[in-house]
Amino acid sequence: MAEKKYDVVIIGAGPGGMTTALYASRANLKVVMLDRGSFGGNLNNTASIVNYSGFKDIQGPELAEKMYQGATQFGAEYAYGTVTKIEADGQQKKVTTDMGDTFIAPVVVIATGSDHRKLGVPGEEEFSGRGVSYCAVCDGAFFKGKHLVVVGGGDSAVEEGIYLTQFASKVTVVVRRDVLRAQPMLQDEAEKNEKMEFVFNTNVTEILGDDVKVTGVKTHNNKTGEDGKISAAGAFIYVGTVPMTAPFKGLGVLDDQGWVKTDNEMKTSIPGIFAIGDVRETPLRQIATAVGDGAIAGQEVYQYIKGLN
Ligand SMILES: Cc1cc2nc3c(=O)[nH]c(=O)nc-3n(C[C@H](O)[C@H](O)[C@H](O)COP(=O)(O)OP(=O)(O)OC[C@H]3O[C@@H](n4cnc5c(N)ncnc54)[C@H](O)[C@@H]3O)c2cc1C
Repeated sequence: MAEKKYDVVIIGAGPGGMTTALYASRANLKVVMLDRGSFGGNLNNTASIVNYSGFKDIQGPELAEKMYQGATQFGAEYAYGTVTKIEADGQQKKVTTDMGDTFIAPVVVIATGSDHRKLGVPGEEEFSGRGVSYCAVCDGAFFKGKHLVVVGGGDSAVEEGIYLTQFASKVTVVVRRDVLRAQPMLQDEAEKNEKMEFVFNTNVTEILGDDVKVTGVKTHNNKTGEDGKISAAGAFIYVGTVPMTAPFKGLGVLDDQGWVKTDNEMKTSIPGIFAIGDVRETPLRQIATAVGDGAIAGQEVYQYIKGLN
């Protein structure tokens, strides 16, 4: 257990946190990024990125590596740990991790992003890691020549479904509504892909399996009321996201859905606590917006600390 002092503690080393680290360390501030996993955040769960300016098509983990090189070039540090608490008593804030380490700083930037939303059906928990997955780039290659189900109708479901067709014999996308919500270009690409099929107006109601692994899903057509079954070796679930804000509930900075409320300068209602990227109340959750928020926070953090001296 150690107590360390910094100018800025950034919680989360995704694209947002890494950008604040770059800006703040370039302004000569002593910066640490804390993460419960490897740097990169959700970039590590993304196969192909075609909508981040400057790259025609880049793999998520490759972009994560490039961002990390940039973030640490002026001395920002990375430390492993799951943050469990922020105490904001006066000017100095205290950030505690599950390993009992504490980090003291006048500024804390919450950049913890979002996690996948669970479908909440029987079998999901039981077969997680045994055919139920939330990450095509991590698990897709285990399903060579197999039939897969993707649950969801937004950008992530369609994009990751397309990615899975390079391994799977067929990908059936089960969509709750009667239309997809994905960007038109993605929809075109998916519709042209001979390995993809779509089942609309349908809810997955159960993940089925044998003693070892997933064997299919049970379905319910919400228009006709008909129940059905799709045999598949895996179910990839993309039904939205939830904020990663459990440790910050007591601070009074969250909205009723759990996202962090900020102003346009990424400031929360507590002086010295900022929030950026997917974790905050924002109309768009993408790499470009997380990076933009990160840059604004980097600048604002510097101004805030200058004002204290
Ligand atoms: C499958 C998928 C595909 C996507 N495809 C695209 C795309 O093509 N283009 C695009 O622009 N965007 C895409 N996105 C969205 C994009 O990945 C996010 O908008 C972006 O990563 C948000 O960055 P962030 O820094 O706010 O948060 P994140 O990337 O979520 O990073 C948050 C970090 O915080 C850490 N963390 C969380 N809680 C704690 C804690 N208590 N203590 C310590 N660390 C913690 C996490 O481990 C994580 O590393 C995709 C997302 C997914 C899931």
